[in-house]
Amino acid sequence: MMTSADRVARVRLSSVYLPLDTPVSDAKVLTGRQRPMTEIAFLFAEITSEQGHEGIGFAYSKRAGGPGQYAHAKEIANDLVGEDPNDIARLWDKLCWAGASVGRSGLATQAIAALDIALWDMKARRAALPLAKLLGAHRDSVRCYNTSGGFLHAPLDQVLENATAALERGIGGVKIKVGQPDTRADLARVRAVREHLGDHVPLMVDANQQWDRPTAARMGRALEELGLVWIEEPLDAYDHDGHAALAAALDTPIATGEMLTSVDEHAGLIRARGADVLQPDAPRIGGITPFLRLAALAGHERLQLAPHFAMEIHLHLAAAYPLEPWVEHFEWLEPLFEERLEIRDGRMLVPERPGIGVTLSERAAAWTAERFETP
Ligand SMILES: [Mg+2]
Repeated sequence: MMTSADRVARVRLSSVYLPLDTPVSDAKVLTGRQRPMTEIAFLFAEITSEQGHEGIGFAYSKRAGGPGQYAHAKEIANDLVGEDPNDIARLWDKLCWAGASVGRSGLATQAIAALDIALWDMKARRAALPLAKLLGAHRDSVRCYNTSGGFLHAPLDQVLENATAALERGIGGVKIKVGQPDTRADLARVRAVREHLGDHVPLMVDANQQWDRPTAARMGRALEELGLVWIEEPLDAYDHDGHAALAAALDTPIATGEMLTSVDEHAGLIRARGADVLQPDAPRIGGITPFLRLAALAGHERLQLAPHFAMEIHLHLAAAYPLEPWVEHFEWLEPLFEERLEIRDGRMLVPERPGIGVTLSERAAAWTAERFETP
């Protein structure tokens, strides 16, 4: 009989650049803070154990940061070799302390995320269970909404067309970007989308941190009558008090958290009551191990959960959250993987495949810029 003690035999890292079909702009581009996004940098980790088990995980970076994540992961990957891959919590701490002098949040933590997610994928695959089932699922599908169709580089008629296409695909809701320097243009766009969709389709807006406090208060009041599911990132991601004041003043829920890069940063947001809907991102906060710690905290506070981006991973994590959550639909990552997620009746179905349920595609191999393997 196989013993439970296994050892990590080898870690393989890849730096992959996923090109985007169209340069993407949210409000940060319209306010001049960022350039349109043309690609996303991925750090993939593939871990193999002595007993022949395998796991895959990833972190990512939009615009700058990808090479730094990859370089940090290369430095710490060797610390996993010879360790029991089942002891994920201990290994997370080990990897964190290895790089603690450059920080226990941000880029260093995101390098750990790829490895941590690969260890969880391996654990679920070893158990022959989808990750959601290994964690203890509350549901086998999660409400989903589309984000990719509502960016600001797309003219309004294209956004309306994208929204219709999303609903026809079985997606349950639609989010559009706001936060343009001209707030009247924002309001006209949101009203047009609401009219197009009718009153009953879940609709969200996302200002990507580009309003100041007075603008957010005024826009929040103007948007109340549109019955939005939430207003996302109305303010700077670290303005917890500002978010809390808005959340207290408005009926429309306030969503934020995607830019935070550790459990401690999220804990500060939760303590300030800055979010009605918490939007953590597992690859950004260090992987599944910290995400579970945060989900416990958020659940205790009865917060709603809508994880940011990376639906392939977050579908499982959302399925294991006690209150009915949302996952964010982006088709962008699909070319990286062989598998496709099933969407039906407004919901994304947790795949029955063991682990996270993804394998890298040939195209991902073609987009690989660099590779590293532990000796
Ligand atoms: Mg967002």
